[in-house]
Parts: sequence; C-alpha cells; structure tokens
Amino acid sequence: MSADCLFCKIIAGDIPSQKVAETEHIVAFNDITPQAPTHLLVIHKQHTPSLSDSPDSLILGQWMSGVRDVAQQQQLSDYRVIVNNGTGAGQSVFHLHAHILAGRPLDWPPG
Ligand code: AMP
Ligand code: ZN
Repeated sequence: MSADCLFCKIIAGDIPSQKVAETEHIVAFNDITPQAPTHLLVIHKQHTPSLSDSPDSLILGQWMSGVRDVAQQQQLSDYRVIVNNGTGAGQSVFHLHAHILAGRPLDWPPG
C-alpha cells in the first residue's frame, strides 16, 4: 500500500472502480477511458511503481497468471496485453498494471 497511489486506493475501495475480478493477489477493473470495447487493467495487490522497479518473480508470476485468468474468464480469445513502462512510454499511473485490450482490430505495430 502506497498512500498516494490511485490504484492502491482502488484496491482498498477508497476510490470506486468497476471491478471484474479479484483474487488474493490481483484486482482487475475497467479502464475509466477505454481504448477498445474491452479495456481492463490488471494489478497486483502489492504496490510496485513499474516493471523496471523489478518486482520479484513470484509477484510477476501471480500478476501475469492473473492476466491470463481474467482474459479467460472474460472469454477473450484475441486480445493484447500492454505494459507501459515510464512516462516516455505512456505510463501515467505508477502502480504496475497490465492493460488488456480486445473487441476491435488492433494494429501492428502499435503507434
Ligand atoms: P498508463 O497510462 O499505462 O499508466 O495507464 C493508466 C490507465 O489508468 C489509463 O488508461 C487511465 O485511463 C486509467 N485510469 C486512470 N484513473 C482511473 C480510474 N480512477 N479508474 C480506472 N482507470 C483509471
Ligand atoms: Zn499502488
């Protein structure tokens, strides 16, 4: 828990969100500014600012397993998982999160 962190406040329920899944390790909720018909964010309950802050492998495994499980629960077959690392790459919330995008054609390479 980091006192100033938006996503820690969502985990705690201090800021409302549209949660679609929660386990002992992860929370998944709808992005407030969806970029696709399905746009979910999956976060680990343990606060880590970003991927380059090197969360340990156990955390990474729980988190990415959560991404897989949420996509499966939502019956997504074609989807994209995005992790923005650093402001230059588009990261705006510094609690490590994966975007899951689905429901429209996804260009490759991304812009
Ligand atoms: P990023 O730019 O990769 O750090 O992604 C942060 C994401 O959090 C953006 O897609 C925002 O739309 C989303 N976001 C910001 N505030 C909220 C919120 N209160 N509830 C849900 N999603 C949010
Ligand atoms: Zn946090």
